[in-house]
Amino acid sequence: MLELSDVQKSIIETVRDLVEKEVIPIAEELEHKDEFPEKIVEQMKEIGLFGLTVPEDYGGIGEDLVTYALTVVELARGWMSLSGVLNTHFMGCYLINKFGTDEQRRRYLPIMATGEWRAALAMSEPEAGSDVQGIKTKAIKDGDDYVVNGQKMWLTNGLRSSLVMTLVKTDPDADPPHKGMSMLIVEKEGGNPKPAPGLDVGKNIEKMGYKGVETTEMTFSDYRIPQDRLLGTEEGEGFRQVLDGIEIGRVNVAARAVGVATRAFEEAIKYAQQRKAFGKAIAEHQAIQIHLAEMGTTLEAAKLMLYSAAQKKVAGERSDLEASMAKLFASEACHEIVTKSLRVHGGYGYSKEFTIERLYRDAPFLLIGEGTSEIQKTVIARRLLENYKLK
Ligand SMILES: Cc1cc2nc3c(=O)[nH]c(=O)nc-3n(C[C@H](O)[C@H](O)[C@H](O)COP(=O)(O)OP(=O)(O)OC[C@H]3O[C@@H](n4cnc5c(N)ncnc54)[C@H](O)[C@@H]3O)c2cc1C
Repeated sequence: MLELSDVQKSIIETVRDLVEKEVIPIAEELEHKDEFPEKIVEQMKEIGLFGLTVPEDYGGIGEDLVTYALTVVELARGWMSLSGVLNTHFMGCYLINKFGTDEQRRRYLPIMATGEWRAALAMSEPEAGSDVQGIKTKAIKDGDDYVVNGQKMWLTNGLRSSLVMTLVKTDPDADPPHKGMSMLIVEKEGGNPKPAPGLDVGKNIEKMGYKGVETTEMTFSDYRIPQDRLLGTEEGEGFRQVLDGIEIGRVNVAARAVGVATRAFEEAIKYAQQRKAFGKAIAEHQAIQIHLAEMGTTLEAAKLMLYSAAQKKVAGERSDLEASMAKLFASEACHEIVTKSLRVHGGYGYSKEFTIERLYRDAPFLLIGEGTSEIQKTVIARRLLENYKLK
């Protein structure tokens, strides 16, 4: 289905090579220690992954969402957390490139393309995740600044990022609420100039899986930020900007799901040919063959939906329906495939010595991040009803 250019093929080969040689041998160890993969991130910088989609004029490679999605599949096949290090950064680059002013593009994209400054995305709050318009963080104009107050939750890359793309309410009384929402480019540790007082990033939240990459809270207490850190020039555009960003985020989650599911399938089909029961390889028992057949088929369908959604977005067509369908299908398929792979592994699948144990803990996050499955279904149904509206 995909006709890849020579450049795309070479990028995918390079990432696959990195994953085979540098990631797979140590992923379990780092994951069990919940350790940030410093060395691998340096290698990701060297091969240009943080600038993969940044235009060449700003020092990036200038590749599109299809290349990005294929890269994420490879990384997540090795260790899903690596795609987490990349993803909020990729969304930050996308938002600044698409909605930022010329000055913002010149200021941020070159230093982001090298990976020296990486981005996080702060949308969710302790009391608002799915209900994005329910956020309470406020940014109120005062002189040349905004004064920000509120609390953000679940920031992937919260500790090591230099920029946080932060969704706020610049008009908390707007009706409907989305008209009062804006996005701010918050510079923090590693940022230049140093952040003003009033910005506090919490500790790494301990998670079930998706370890190694940190997840934090972030609190603003009368934090002052210059008004030129508003993304773009107009207040009230934040909701539209974030929905656009989420669309590519959903393609990214579908790509991660395909990566994790591919690995779970590979581990199962290998194990099934090695493990013997009742005098023959378990792969020769029909019950196991049915698991393998179902896993392989579902995985293939997830890949096709991923490619289709990414290609549609790259072609500039409206693709919120396809992105939601791909996210929903691929993340649910991944969850099903890791569960089947665990079954194929029998008791050993429950041991930390086997990769499937990690994949089994990573997969559920994909049902939640960038919009839960329930939310995807509401988006899909709304769009289908629009498309099939009775005349
Ligand atoms: C590890 C991790 C990393 C994350 N990283 C980030 C990040 O970098 N940046 C960021 O901004 N956020 C991040 N998130 C937050 C994530 O996007 C939210 O958790 C997610 O959107 C769900 O929101 P919630 O947790 O508040 O659940 P809620 O919105 O409270 O939902 C709870 C349940 O109710 C259901 N529900 C809610 N509303 C409806 C409805 N209208 N119809 C049907 N069902 C509904 C949900 O599907 C879910 O089952 C991260 C989360 C995790 C766990």
